[in-house]
Amino acid sequence: MTDETLATPVRLRTTLDSVPGYKPGKPAAAEGDTVVYKISSNENPYPPLPSVVEAVHEAVATMNRYPDMASSELTHALAQKLGVSDDEVSFGTGSVGILAALIAITCEPGDEVVYAWRSFEAYPIVTALTGARSVQVPLDADARHDLDAMAAAVTDRTRLLIVCTPNNPTGPSVRTDELRAFIEKLPKDLLVVLDEAYLEFVEADDAPDALAFYREFPNVVVLRTFSKAYGLAGLRVGYAVARPRITEALRKAATPFGVNDMAQKAAVASLAAYDELEERVQALVAERRRVVEALADADLNIPDTQANFVWLPLGERTEEFAGVAKDAGLVVRPFAGEGVRATIAEPEANDRLVDVVKGFVGTR
Ligand SMILES: *Cc1c(COP(=O)(O)O)cnc(C)c1O
Repeated sequence: MTDETLATPVRLRTTLDSVPGYKPGKPAAAEGDTVVYKISSNENPYPPLPSVVEAVHEAVATMNRYPDMASSELTHALAQKLGVSDDEVSFGTGSVGILAALIAITCEPGDEVVYAWRSFEAYPIVTALTGARSVQVPLDADARHDLDAMAAAVTDRTRLLIVCTPNNPTGPSVRTDELRAFIEKLPKDLLVVLDEAYLEFVEADDAPDALAFYREFPNVVVLRTFSKAYGLAGLRVGYAVARPRITEALRKAATPFGVNDMAQKAAVASLAAYDELEERVQALVAERRRVVEALADADLNIPDTQANFVWLPLGERTEEFAGVAKDAGLVVRPFAGEGVRATIAEPEANDRLVDVVKGFVGTR
């Protein structure tokens, strides 16, 4: 078809003009003899476990059927693992899918969603699409959530507030004591989402136990995913732990049959194999430690990271660095004018990252 016949006069919502398109990490392609590493999407570098692959193979044979809409087996397995009841967990197409549902069940058009910024790129997108308004509260000088400023940003239009801990893309987690004082200050009817996409990688002693917060505060929802530590990013499954009234609303708002059978079976098999997965998580945490130590004398103020990535606050030199990294076979995630997020991956990729960073900024 020509450009002219491809055009359409249909009226779309004006809010879409202000919605940034989600930028996926670029795929890695081999360049000559150099292995290229994609360290732009915080994926788990390990391939799926054989037991998980086998569960998916079995599920493939019945893909002519709709999946179990209630994800019953997965619901039950997860609820048991977490020590909650089945009517406190709900699933979505990635935790981003559930976050969209959380906003849809809380916000009328014009209502406000408060979150830190810079934080996870999906927040402004899912907020705008529901017709709600984003209120972004700048991170503090250490690239941490400024919880006092976030509390001050809450108005009578605020319906949902997100705490991303550890924060993507900067790395720090919030502290238990500051989080408790913060939540105690907030209106009791304001939904507070603790986004713990990187929970399994956290080492800090003062990091919060989100489930304990959930038990203590009826307005807290815990959001987690199988995409990162569990290595199921390609299957799209995440979950929320919430009071039954909220869970019921989430199930109403979810895309019908959104979590497919392969994803459900893979998640069940992953829960069963968690000890094996945990070894991999610990190996990645050890690699993170190694990278952080190696970069300690780099001339760059790297914030504390509790996740499977490091934040390089390169400011105006961000895009230049991304180009240099690409030439070295590393696809990183640049945020123009701010910095670069690089995922902890295979040891070889991590070595290369350390070399490239030190070569670029020098040591002090
Ligand atoms: C990766 C990530 C998610 C999870 O995304 P999925 O949709 O579950 O793949 C959620 N929150 C944050 C902060 C993330 O970085």
